[in-house]
Amino acid sequence: EFGEISINDLDQLAESSFPLCMRHLFVKLREDHHLKHGGRMQLGLFLKGVGLKLEDALAFWKAEFSQKVGAERFDKEYAYSIRHNYGREGKRTDYTPYSCQKIISSTPGVGDHHGCPYRHFSEENLRAAIGRMGVGSRAIEDVMDKVRNRHYQLACTLTFEAVHGSSCDAGINHPNQYFNDSQKILQ
Ligand code: SF4
Repeated sequence: EFGEISINDLDQLAESSFPLCMRHLFVKLREDHHLKHGGRMQLGLFLKGVGLKLEDALAFWKAEFSQKVGAERFDKEYAYSIRHNYGREGKRTDYTPYSCQKIISSTPGVGDHHGCPYRHFSEENLRAAIGRMGVGSRAIEDVMDKVRNRHYQLACTLTFEAVHGSSCDAGINHPNQYFNDSQKILQ
């Protein structure tokens, strides 16, 4: 737990400390000004875990979705589920961010951007994506080797280690753990 974060920090944090699954959703949201339900849940709960407060989350999602569907439709159709994620609607459950296991076992359909890239991307797209994270060609082969053996979390762990130049002995089992471990190294 690193306390509150501000909307203005998100782009920099996504670049430095988000695992690939969340970077991908974040970039797609910025590009398309939209995410389907599965992506909104996966990214929205992760951002809550990172420390984005409800008011900031509403402002962040609204700024993007308004460009696509308009502010009015955002307020009508999308704001509820964000408040819901923060336990302010419905059963008032305080929903927790998804674990790697849950994300890896999800089944994204056409037009969805949620899921685990190590499990759900094509080999070509995955190579390009981890290359963009700054992983060198040797390490990319090590990552792809883990992916071929269906060790997706180990592939993510190797990516973490390559990006941070630092070991991650516990392994990655939660996107928010990836974020917290990254911040510990960078701060
Ligand atoms: Fe995200 Fe976990 Fe997959 Fe890494 S292993 S990309 S943190 S779901």
